[in-house]
Amino acid sequence: MLSPVRRMNLSDSMDGIIHSTESFGAADGPGIRFVVFMQGCNMRCKFCHNPDSWGFNGERISAAELLQRALRYSDFWGKNGGITLSGGEPMLQPEFAAQFFGMAKEKGIHTALDTSAQPFCSKDERFAALFRLTDLVLLDIKHIDSEKHRALTGFDNKNILECAKYLDRRNIPVWIRHVVIPGYESDSELLRLGEFIRSLSNVQKTELLPYHTFGSHKWEALGMRYPFGSLPPASRHDIEHAASLINSDTYTP
Ligand code: SF4
Repeated sequence: MLSPVRRMNLSDSMDGIIHSTESFGAADGPGIRFVVFMQGCNMRCKFCHNPDSWGFNGERISAAELLQRALRYSDFWGKNGGITLSGGEPMLQPEFAAQFFGMAKEKGIHTALDTSAQPFCSKDERFAALFRLTDLVLLDIKHIDSEKHRALTGFDNKNILECAKYLDRRNIPVWIRHVVIPGYESDSELLRLGEFIRSLSNVQKTELLPYHTFGSHKWEALGMRYPFGSLPPASRHDIEHAASLINSDTYTP
C-alpha cells in the first residue's frame, strides 16, 4: 500500500521543500537551465521515475537562498536559458514558486514551470499569481481519456485540461509533454489528444517522451512493486506512430 501524502500548508512561510537541483539542465525548457525538483506530488503515475519526490520530506530552503544558488550558473544561460521549477509537483507549493519566480523576474530571468497541473483551480488566486510570473509552462497531459488518466495516475484529467484552456485564454506559452507508453493508447485516443492540442493557440510545441524504466529500481528501493513490471520502453516506431496521429508541431527526442 502507498502511504498517503501529508498535505502541507505553506501559506505561513516562503520556505519551500525541494528534492534536488540540476545545474545544467538541457531537457526542461529552452536552453541551459537551473532546474529545481520540488518535493511533493499527489499523483501516483505508474511510470513515475521519481517516486522519492512524492512526500514532503526534503530540503527546506528559502526562495532567496534558492535563487542565489541558481545565480551561480547564470553565465551559462545565454539568451535562451533560465530556471525551471519541476517536481514532484511545483503547484503544490504555489506561494513559494511565485515568490521564487518573482525574484527571478526582477533580474530578468526566464521562468519555466514543469507541471502536471493536477492541483489547478481557476478560482485559486495563488495559481493566477504564479502564472503571471511564468514565461513558459511545460504541461504534462498523461492521457486524453479521463478514466484511463485516473487508472494511470490516480486522478482524472479535468483540472489539467482546464488548466490548458486557462493558459490559452491568458496567452501564456505552453509546451505540451506526453509520455508515450507502448500499448496504452488507442489510435483514436491519440487523434483526440492531437485535436485537443490543436484547439489551443498558445502551444509552441509538443514533446513526446518515450516511456522508460529508469526509475523502477527506486520503487523497489522504497519497498513498492513497479506497476508496469517488465513493460518494454517505447521504441522509435512507437514515438513516430504517436507523432503522426497527434499531428501537432511535434518534437521527437
Ligand atoms: S506527476 Fe510526475 S512526480 Fe507526480 S507521480 Fe506523476 S510522474 Fe511522478
